[in-house]
Amino acid sequence: MRLRDKVALITGGGKGIGRETALLFAREGAKLVIGDFDVQAGEQTVQDIRNLGADALFFKVDVTNRDYVQAMVDEAVRKFGRIDVLINNAGITQDAFLTKMTEKQWEAVINVNLTGVFNCTQAVVPLMVQQGSGSIINASSVVGVYGNVGQTNYAATKAGVIGMTKSWAKELGPTGIRTNAIAPGFIVTDMTAKVPEKVLNVMKERTPLGRLGTPQDVANAYLFLASEESSFINGVTIGVDGGLVI
Ligand code: NAP
Repeated sequence: MRLRDKVALITGGGKGIGRETALLFAREGAKLVIGDFDVQAGEQTVQDIRNLGADALFFKVDVTNRDYVQAMVDEAVRKFGRIDVLINNAGITQDAFLTKMTEKQWEAVINVNLTGVFNCTQAVVPLMVQQGSGSIINASSVVGVYGNVGQTNYAATKAGVIGMTKSWAKELGPTGIRTNAIAPGFIVTDMTAKVPEKVLNVMKERTPLGRLGTPQDVANAYLFLASEESSFINGVTIGVDGGLVI
């Protein structure tokens, strides 16, 4: 087991990539804290983890709210005593062309995808510093690497996440904490269910491996970055995109 007795906190762990990652981590021996907006999905994930024989806790959280985030971290520590892995996975899209994008759409995406990552990391890091170890993994995107039509807000956040990842790799590395990111291509989840099929087909054609990604593809990369197998990897962004960006 690659995460035996490790405690992993996954935001947005109720659905999609986060849920798949939580189940994989449970099979690899981890204890899970699932933080999500969606209570039904989050509780279902926890139930499914328990059915695998692993321990898990659900906490309803809005990552944009610092009080909720701190309460989630406090609850995780009360139950499990430590946090070894933080996966800043919660994210949203609110797409529009630049000239049509409202301030509300801009702010909503910045608040969840960028400020939410800042909030969760700031709440968890003192504990990791005390432990002298930890792995922080942030969800970026190919869109943060090479941009996308209609996603000014999303691209800004996902590029920002790469900048934060590198800053924390330098700032926190000396304390034993590693920080890395993943940049998925187009992955089949509720998020991409909103993308027109025509666009998804174009993405498939542009991907050398000829298919869209699955949540399992991304979960495997999260697992590698969470485990000791990546113990000398710090500050990188791993593309999980079938070669879409090359
Ligand atoms: P998803 O299926 O939409 O799941 C995201 C989960 O996060 C949902 O349960 C959602 O709850 C929750 N969430 C949203 N806002 C939140 C908040 N403020 N606080 C706490 N939880 C919140 O998304 P996904 O496709 O698995 O994506 C996971 C991550 O990978 C995101 O950061 C995304 O940007 C990134 N990513 C995804 C793709 C892709 O193609 N799917 C590609 C590149 C990067 P609600 O449903 O109630 O909002």
